[in-house]
Formats: sequence, C-alpha cells, structure tokens
Amino acid sequence: MFVEEYITKLKPYEGGKPIEELRRELGIKGEIIKLASNENPLGPSKKAIKAIKKIAESVNLYPDGDCYYLKEKLSNKLGVSRDNLVFGNGSDELLELIFRTFATKNGDEILYCYPSFVEYKIIGSSFNKKLVEVPLKGFSYDIDELIKAINSNTRIIFLNTPNNPTGTIIKRSDIERVIEATDSNKTLVVIDEAYYEYAIAEDDYEELLDLYKKGNVVILRTFSKAYGLAGLRIGYGIAGEEIIDYLNRVRPPFNVNLVAQHAALAALDDEEHIRRSVEVNRAGKEYLYREFDNMGITYIKTYANFILFDAKKDANYVYGELLKRGVIVRSMAGYGYKSMLRVTIGTPRENEIFIKNLREVLDV
Ligand code: PMP
Repeated sequence: MFVEEYITKLKPYEGGKPIEELRRELGIKGEIIKLASNENPLGPSKKAIKAIKKIAESVNLYPDGDCYYLKEKLSNKLGVSRDNLVFGNGSDELLELIFRTFATKNGDEILYCYPSFVEYKIIGSSFNKKLVEVPLKGFSYDIDELIKAINSNTRIIFLNTPNNPTGTIIKRSDIERVIEATDSNKTLVVIDEAYYEYAIAEDDYEELLDLYKKGNVVILRTFSKAYGLAGLRIGYGIAGEEIIDYLNRVRPPFNVNLVAQHAALAALDDEEHIRRSVEVNRAGKEYLYREFDNMGITYIKTYANFILFDAKKDANYVYGELLKRGVIVRSMAGYGYKSMLRVTIGTPRENEIFIKNLREVLDV
C-alpha cells in the first residue's frame, strides 16, 4: 500500500503495558503502583462518578457536538465568552486540531523546547512538519534562543508551563516576549497548561489566562490531571474568537463523548476535590523533597504533580529495578537525561512505597 515516505519513518506511540500483563511477565507477586503518567492518585471526584453512572443509560444517544452546558459552566468560571472555548478528546486532540487547522503549508516550521511534552514532536512528525527544537537551559526554557529561532516559516510555537518532564514554569514576562516576537498573522503561540491546577497553588505562579486576548494565542488545559478524568479524554482550549471559529470548522462533529461531558460538568462543581487533590500533591511533594534530601538525591523544584530527580545511576537500570519491585516510574534516559527519572506524586502510602524501594535500589 502506498504511503508517503515520512509516514514509513514514524514510530507508533509506545504506551505502558497493562498492569496485569506486567505482573505476569515479571512475576510480581505483591501490589503494583503506577507513578508514571501524572494521573490524580485520589481518582475522580465522587460527583463525577455519580454523573458517569447516571449518564450510562443514555449512551445510545450522540453527545452534544457543541458541548453547550460545559461551555456555559466553564465560560462563567473563567470569565470568558463561550466563543473563546473549544473542547477536545483530551488536549492531545486539540494539539492535532491545531496542526490540521494552522500548519497546513509546505515548509511550515514548528518550534518548541526540548525536553518537553513528547506529543509536539509526535504530532508534528505525523504532519511532516519541520521540527525546530531549542534545548532547555538548566531545565528551564531558553527564551532568548527560542526567540532567535523564530522566522517567517514558524507556524506554531509550543510553550509548556509547567513543563513536562521538568516541572519548571515559564515567567509570564518571557511568554509575553515570545508573543511579541511573533507576527500575529503567521504564528500561533500555544501555551500548554495541562498542570495549571497544581501550578496556581504555588506563590510565584503568574496567571496567564488573559493572554488569549492577544489573538494568536491558544491556552490548553485538561480534565486529565487534577480533575482525575484522564480515562475519559477531555481537555479544552481558550483562544480568541477567530482562532476558535477556525478550529471548529475542522473539528470532528462529536469529538467529545457524552460520558466525558457529563463527568467534566460534575467535576467542575466539585471544587473540594480539586482542593484536596492539590493539597495531597503539596504534602506529597514536601515528603519526597525531604526524602530525596536525606538520600542526597538532587531534584528539580516542581510546579506540577511530578518530580524529575537524578538517581546518579543509569536511569533505565533504576527504572527496571523499581519495576521488578512493582513501582512504575518513567526513565528520562531517552530524553538525554541519562541518570534522571520522573515520578508522579502519589498518595502518602504510594510515596512511601516508592521511597522504600528507591532506597533499596540505590542502596542508600
Ligand atoms: N500536555 C502536557 C504537558 C501533558 O503532560 C499531557 C498529558 N501527559 C497532555 C498535554 C495531554 O493531556 P490530555 O490527557 O488532555 O490529552
């Protein structure tokens, strides 16, 4: 079958194996804890679970293609118009939609920092775009170099704050500098705030929401992280009306499923669940920082629900040894961080199990 050469060069996304498969393969007897995908360890809100059970009886019906009630609730919460919102099957789908809508010309370039969220590269390659990567400087964005890399072919710039996998944030003034360095008719600036709810709990986080008014900016957020709905796949974008209008022309009609819409509506009503999730994350972070300090392990101060740390041993080895003991984290060796791993902050119990096993693997 004919396909373009660039398709033959793509590699399929490799997700983790199902936990029960891993158990069988590795002969793990006890409990397996997964601290690898930055999910909410408390699970979804009880209100969302109730809404999911209730809507189950209606899944013979198509969902609302316009997410009418969600737009109403979220626009009120954020203080934006419903015409400033678009929903997607996870923010992943919105990333793809952004490419399909705005990066359509031959020679278009995509600009992002590295390491950052892998999907910018994966989706960019699947659209055969030229990918321009600016290395992080000391785990943070090198804004001067990023700005130097902007040219008349730059179509999309991805700014991920807090940045996955480092957990670092980008200063608002630096984001403004990037936006000012673009031609607003040519270049879209995507600010990916998947970990927003965790970041705003930090004193020095600066709100970015109003930047959507610049006209060539899309802010992406998700229900997958603090809201605990990763399995339902729902995220949203906030942008100027013109951008949203174009995205809606390309968007598949029923891209956000019925269950996800109802669960997200209920989750938005459960502010206590978000408060608790953020608090568990804060306490877990302080515990892990303390334990890392005790072990002499260095780490990057995080604004999200994961921590990048330096095991000072081969990261793939540490990953494998933790896995054998039933603890799944993420090795960052493939990103050039040969001795670093990323761990999601879990419940107090999960964090303790992780630390106990890490001590054993590192012999400290
Ligand atoms: N952006 C970043 C920075 C992420 O880390 C993730 C998920 N790992 C996403 C976007 C995608 O989230 P969603 O589940 O909404 O597709």
